[in-house]
Amino acid sequence: MRRLLELEKQVENCKACDLWKKRKHPVFGEGPENAKVMLIGLGPGYWENQKGRPFVGAAGKFLNELLSLAELKREDVYITNVVKCYLPENKVTEEEVKVCTSLYLDKQIEIIKPKIIITLGNVATEYIFKKFNLPLTSMNKLHGKSFIVSNLFLQAKIIPMYHPAAGLRNPGLRSTIEEDWKIIKEVIK
Ligand code: URA
Repeated sequence: MRRLLELEKQVENCKACDLWKKRKHPVFGEGPENAKVMLIGLGPGYWENQKGRPFVGAAGKFLNELLSLAELKREDVYITNVVKCYLPENKVTEEEVKVCTSLYLDKQIEIIKPKIIITLGNVATEYIFKKFNLPLTSMNKLHGKSFIVSNLFLQAKIIPMYHPAAGLRNPGLRSTIEEDWKIIKEVIK
């Protein structure tokens, strides 16, 4: 836990990009260091910024439902984001992704060594697919599938999923997202 706690302390004082100026609390991530499953979203929204915890707003409520469809307990999975500071417009630049992931997310993955990485939405999926040289296509085609990654420091399955917020914005997607989470129950076992 020490290495994760040390990283978390660094986030508290991080000024590596301009996003620190609008944050109230950075959102490092939460969950057990030995979690088998890691979830990666985009970045903190309004409520996450208020509370310093990932996925505690409306998208988080839907995520909790999705986790139970996959028979996962929230406290057993590690939940984090590509970037750790509040995104008022829900948008990131390439540079912000590059700086923040090299300082934090890459290290979180190295420390936790999850067996399953679930990427939530386009930005997390694109980042992880490029990092592990996986063939990136559209979320339309990728969602719910699983991709094996094996290198010196990680053997894992990567599962891209629609971002839960996409299901809230577009109710037509909701049942597709729910089906994806029901199906991955078997992949995760
Ligand atoms: N959306 C995200 O991508 N991450 C959060 O933590 C909350 C909402």
